[in-house]
Amino acid sequence: MCPHYPTVTPRCSQVTWELDVSEPNETFDIVILGGGSGGYAAALRAAELGLSVALVEKGKLGGTCLHNGCIPTKALLHAAEVADQTRESEQFGVKAELVGIDMAAVNSYKDGVVARLYKGLQGLLGGAKNITIVAGAGRLVAPNTVEVDGKRYTGRNIILASGSYAKSLPGLEVDGERIITSDHALVMDRVPASVIVLGGGVIGVEFASVWKSFGVDVTIIEALPRLVAAEDEESSKALERAFRKRKINFKVGKPFEKVEKTGSGVRVTIAGGETVEAELLLVAVGRGPNTAGLGYEEQGVRMDRGYVLTDERQRTSVPNVYAVGDIVPGLQLAHRGFQQGIFVAEEIAGENPAVIDEAGIPRVTYSDPELASVGLTEAKAKEQYGADKVKTYNYNLGGNGKSQILKTTGFVKLVRVEDGPVVGVHMVGARVGELIGEAQLIYNWEAYPAEVAQLVHAHPTQNEALGEAHLALAGKPLHAHA
Ligand SMILES: Cc1cc2nc3c(=O)[nH]c(=O)nc-3n(C[C@H](O)[C@H](O)[C@H](O)COP(=O)(O)OP(=O)(O)OC[C@H]3O[C@@H](n4cnc5c(N)ncnc54)[C@H](O)[C@@H]3O)c2cc1C
Repeated sequence: MCPHYPTVTPRCSQVTWELDVSEPNETFDIVILGGGSGGYAAALRAAELGLSVALVEKGKLGGTCLHNGCIPTKALLHAAEVADQTRESEQFGVKAELVGIDMAAVNSYKDGVVARLYKGLQGLLGGAKNITIVAGAGRLVAPNTVEVDGKRYTGRNIILASGSYAKSLPGLEVDGERIITSDHALVMDRVPASVIVLGGGVIGVEFASVWKSFGVDVTIIEALPRLVAAEDEESSKALERAFRKRKINFKVGKPFEKVEKTGSGVRVTIAGGETVEAELLLVAVGRGPNTAGLGYEEQGVRMDRGYVLTDERQRTSVPNVYAVGDIVPGLQLAHRGFQQGIFVAEEIAGENPAVIDEAGIPRVTYSDPELASVGLTEAKAKEQYGADKVKTYNYNLGGNGKSQILKTTGFVKLVRVEDGPVVGVHMVGARVGELIGEAQLIYNWEAYPAEVAQLVHAHPTQNEALGEAHLALAGKPLHAHA
């Protein structure tokens, strides 16, 4: 159906090109710029609340997480786990032999998962009666208007959700062949012989983990003094121990200096003049906000180094313009984007939602072993409350039956302030990402160790490790020392 006002959209071809396209021609309660985790979650919740939404997306609905991030990487990590289990099957009495990695088949499994989820999302968004999906690149041309291919969409409210891109470093030119980002790594049709991973953050260690399981010689180079430096120091150390055991090479505290192409690959020079050579260099030095040239600053949105600044209610400096997801400084995680999107939709609908506590957002690194955490690290807690006020307890997974069955090692570490609630949970070990659900409830509900200790945990599960750690911290350890 054609709108009542002048338009030049192809489906309304009876309208001539002489019309003044600078006139706002469609008005919505909300216009959302970007259909990734933050943008589409806002659209779905707003539509549910009866608000009309225009969702502008230049690529594929679902954004980075679905197409180039969370989902495809976790599919690769699962294939990597299957490879390792095959290799190590004899320790469980199962005779199997790993004869190789068929990247075409791995990719077809990975792409199948993405395609099914994409289809579901398209159906969900396309079927929502209050959501108009606008395909094309949008630009903020007035504080309340987004322009897409010459057509203007006006919103009583605007949500900026344009996401992020893989950053590089000065002098480091990504060519997509020998020097690649995660976007290229996710569509590779072969298993390289050797890779240097520049950056030991979450994305870097996840790819290092996958490639090692696929038989690649991997070296991580990290400028900071430890891998996954944003995590609790003990978690970093445990990951480094495990990676050493897996023969994943890493050099920490070694800033990158330069890269040169050699006959067959790349040579990277790091601080001190040391060089490392490999077939490929994966640049995993973080993600930058996708905001350049989108008109945000011109319309008065306050920015800092390309990021959009918001208050705790996701409001930018321009009235009725909100921002969510990776363009807002903080954790660049899909579930943070989802939650911020839902929050803004409810805020606009007048539901007065509770402010999101950034520390309460769960963080999982899906390498082998996994790392999972919520709340404050021990160091942050000491900084915030004073070193003498902070207590910690480490429960070793060696005492947990299910972990023994899985033959995994690691720990559950609790951080508590004096006799108060638990303010941080940090876990390392196979599958601990699945334990984060309980951990985040403990943190976000400000549970006391004694309250968690009285809850019954099923046996044998890894969740019991959380229960046991709380029993110990409450002064009544069962299979551990207080
Ligand atoms: C390799 C990798 C692995 C990851 N793994 C995880 C994980 O396991 N768990 C997790 O929580 N997070 C993970 N992330 C992070 C997660 O993907 C992001 O935090 C999340 O996608 C951010 O959501 P967003 O909505 O802010 O942005 P995006 O998902 O990037 O979406 C932004 C959308 O805006 C669109 N857009 C941009 N500019 C315009 C424009 N001008 N007009 C129209 N549309 C536009 C883009 O096409 C895109 O679809 C991973 C990221 C990467 C790269």
